[in-house]
This record gives sequence, C-alpha cells and structure tokens, in this order.
Amino acid sequence: MTTRYVEAFRIPQSVGAGRVLMHNHIRHTINHPNGINGFRAWTDSKRPPGFQSCRCGWSGLPHYARGAFKCDTPAKIKQLTGVYIPRDAKRKAA
Ligand SMILES: [Zn+2]
Repeated sequence: MTTRYVEAFRIPQSVGAGRVLMHNHIRHTINHPNGINGFRAWTDSKRPPGFQSCRCGWSGLPHYARGAFKCDTPAKIKQLTGVYIPRDAKRKAA
C-alpha cells in the first residue's frame, strides 16, 4: 500500500486508476478541503482494513471511511469549530 495525501486545501475531483480514496473521522462539509480543521483525505492502492464504503457525499467521489459519516452544513461546522468552509473550495485530482 502506498498512501498519498490529497494536496492541502484541495478537494479531489478524480481518483487515479488503481487508487481508492479515503477520509478520516473529522466532521466535514460536502466540499471540505483536505487539511482544514483536522480533516484528512488520501488515496491508497487498496482499502485499509476496517474502512467501508462511505455514503456521506463528500467530494462527490466514491470513497471509504472507518465508520458511518454524513456531511454537515458549512453553518454547522462554523458553529462547532469557528471555521468557515467555502462552498466553492478548489478541486483537484487526487
Ligand atoms: Zn465520506
């Protein structure tokens, strides 16, 4: 397995051939950039043990996570953390 983190402050818009996309357990919006407020996303050559298909909607791409998640609204994240997540955050290939 070769882990590659999504570039900081980016949202992936595609996943490379032979790669799978994952994110961690931090609450996030549907357009949450990697690295903001502890949210991390990465790709690997295969799904890590314990990760399952995640239907939260983040990034609009198929991905995996360890647990069941849902995306929060930017207002909810701002309320919880004080961090505003813009809806038009930049997207880039992972
Ligand atoms: Zn997810």
